[in-house]
Amino acid sequence: MPRLSQADLIELNRTFEDRSPQELLEWSRTIFGDRVAALSSMQKSGNTICHMLHSIPIKMPVLFVDTGVLFPETLETRDRLIAEYGLDIQTLHPAQTMAEQTVEKGVLYLTPEGQKECCELRKSAPLDAVQQNYDALVSSLRRSDGGARGACPILAIDTRLNCLRINPLVNFDDDQLAAYIAEHNVITNPLHDQGFSTIGCNRCTTPVLPNEPRRAGRWRHLGPWSVYCGINPTDMDPERSPAIDISQDLIDRILGRETDFMI
Ligand code: SF4
Repeated sequence: MPRLSQADLIELNRTFEDRSPQELLEWSRTIFGDRVAALSSMQKSGNTICHMLHSIPIKMPVLFVDTGVLFPETLETRDRLIAEYGLDIQTLHPAQTMAEQTVEKGVLYLTPEGQKECCELRKSAPLDAVQQNYDALVSSLRRSDGGARGACPILAIDTRLNCLRINPLVNFDDDQLAAYIAEHNVITNPLHDQGFSTIGCNRCTTPVLPNEPRRAGRWRHLGPWSVYCGINPTDMDPERSPAIDISQDLIDRILGRETDFMI
């Protein structure tokens, strides 16, 4: 099977630095057709992607992982996006409820090792279950988020899901994001107005103080060493140059070798 590596994407990533998020979304749909979906956890960046899909418009499903222990405001935000933007939001679930998992394994999220297992079971595994349906996933990572995301590429290889990750918002800084949300009155999770700079499961997310790092509210009970869940591969190991197995035809389309499509 032909392989596409992160190194193969260097030139395309360089070219794409000048493209708008909307242009990158249109490229995604043109290249991957029905085999691309967006991911959203119902936070500001993901909701901005949702608004762009609605307003361009681009027909693309949105995958939402409901861990079973999310805040009601997050589920209500999903429901508003479906009702008001007309999006095809597909909710994915873990194999077990949190109660069933706790009976079998105990309360995992109280230790660093347990948190990794819990996030694996409740966040990553549901995506594994639909992996065969997609060659690309649109995420909403931004370099302004800092930390491991400070050098996030626009196109990134995801070996676990054997797909391309597309990050149209990497160059959207905080001011641009806030301006877009204000100008378009984007539906946002009301928890942001209650001090939650990022939003995950209700077991592991707290508001942050004004002088705290943005992700200080995630897994606060575990200390500052645990700030990502692992659902985004570039958060965990941004230095690698991995590769995925996909068809030669798709590699050619991604790299623009057999198409005159230009954005
Ligand atoms: S954020 Fe916490 S509750 Fe949610 S999946 Fe990860 S460890 Fe489990």
